[in-house]
Amino acid sequence: MFPDVETIVVGAGVVGLAVARSLAEAGHEVMVLEQHELIGSETSSRNSEVIHAGIYYPPGSLRARLCVRGKELLYRFCAENSVSHAPCGKLIVATQEGQLPKLAALKATAEKNGVTDLQPIGGNAARALEPELACVAALVSPSTGIIDSHGLMLALQGHVEAHRGSVILRCPVERIERTARRHFRLITGGDAPGSVSSANLVISAGLHASKLAATLSYGGGYRPPETYYAKGQYYALSGTSPFKRHIYPMPDGAWLGLHATVDIGGRCKFGPDIEWIDDLDYSFVPEKLDKFLDAIRSYYPGLDTSRLHPDYTGIRPKLYREGEPVPDFAIHGPEKHGAAGLVALYGIESPGLTAALAIAEMVAGMLPGSRGISE
Ligand SMILES: Cc1cc2nc3c(=O)[nH]c(=O)nc-3n(C[C@H](O)[C@H](O)[C@H](O)COP(=O)(O)OP(=O)(O)OC[C@H]3O[C@@H](n4cnc5c(N)ncnc54)[C@H](O)[C@@H]3O)c2cc1C
Repeated sequence: MFPDVETIVVGAGVVGLAVARSLAEAGHEVMVLEQHELIGSETSSRNSEVIHAGIYYPPGSLRARLCVRGKELLYRFCAENSVSHAPCGKLIVATQEGQLPKLAALKATAEKNGVTDLQPIGGNAARALEPELACVAALVSPSTGIIDSHGLMLALQGHVEAHRGSVILRCPVERIERTARRHFRLITGGDAPGSVSSANLVISAGLHASKLAATLSYGGGYRPPETYYAKGQYYALSGTSPFKRHIYPMPDGAWLGLHATVDIGGRCKFGPDIEWIDDLDYSFVPEKLDKFLDAIRSYYPGLDTSRLHPDYTGIRPKLYREGEPVPDFAIHGPEKHGAAGLVALYGIESPGLTAALAIAEMVAGMLPGSRGISE
């Protein structure tokens, strides 16, 4: 018995679409299944849209390597596919003398990650670049940028479809089974419930990846990692942006701090904060305004609060609980879970947008090359 499709990717976020594009270009017959009626309806459209340089992540980690490689691939892809983006740069700022050692440590970590273009500057030089900024010193990151994430996803979808792949919307996958021939059978719900089988399967389901992967049974005692949720919310600033570059305060553990980003249209927004939550809930919490004001004023004292407006929230898929050590991206192939033809992605939080094309390269390398549909 042949499977219906050679390779299925569950999830049409930026990572699923990037994986589908890589597989389609490698000759796989690819189908992407997405539960919503639009691509990129979850985390991929609720983030800062920053092209990260690769500064913060532990050297040698997947996050560090895939961010640096992904950045390079992303700039090239955007240029070749007319996706709106800009290498606008960013300043990481120390607002107190006591933060200077941490600034130096960030530069050292970045260098270990292959990010060798950071320039340390003093407070006056920083204000010459960004007159509204208050800080005692900064690191300039010229390779940090901004991207239109939806434009990117549309371009990726275009590549999938140009290689005879398909993106099926309104198709929630409810559970996964194995057939007698070791194919995957995906039971789908929604308007037209049914099932579809494949030889290979990529679970790129973001916040829902653990739940979906847990419906499949594995040998050898493997269990998919749990996903926990941490919400972040943004305030937008109306009118002209006070900054030309992104402004990042000192990171606090794995959280990059309440930063100012300038989007592709030149609009400035502040966020995201971090709040651990139990259930998926995108509601905006206006009571957090004072915390935002304190954080923003530490580097932007001239903030006019009447220009701040609630914007949106996003939810990070975390593989750890608050206070626990921060694990790496989890990209599990057959050597981990024992299921031939399956790659599952867990905890693809920031810098997943930047790293998407590099994650895709890696996943495509983990699946057998296309042999056409086989028994
Ligand atoms: C607040 C915030 C800020 C961030 N800022 C940045 C940044 O500036 N730069 C950066 O590089 N990264 C950033 N990130 C990280 C980045 O947004 C994510 O890593 C990336 O979008 C993850 O993409 P994804 O495709 O894995 O997940 P998603 O975009 O969540 O896509 C998963 C898709 O799978 C679908 N799906 C799930 N389950 C099923 C199912 N059972 N059946 C069918 N479909 C299903 C979902 O509907 C969804 O469309 C940020 C994240 C957050 C939360």
